[in-house]
Amino acid sequence: MAVVVCARCGQEREGAGKVGLPGSLGADIEARICAECWKEWLSTQIRVINHYGLRPAQREDRDKLYELTRDFLQLGVPASEV
Ligand SMILES: [Zn+2]
Repeated sequence: MAVVVCARCGQEREGAGKVGLPGSLGADIEARICAECWKEWLSTQIRVINHYGLRPAQREDRDKLYELTRDFLQLGVPASEV
């Protein structure tokens, strides 16, 4: 497992590895998020989904969830959208 300097906690830790998310988000997480922060997001995202009433099977809701994922993990705006 690769070691990353995590964008969220700023520590040098074991990376999250393959997280199964598409495009630049998946790649950013793999390169810049540690396993600890990723685990934290996985448990937080359940509350987030409930809070916003998101239905991840639907495209718009999934996009919203990806945006919230970026916010939580402090990844910033993807290069393609700057
Ligand atoms: Zn971290």
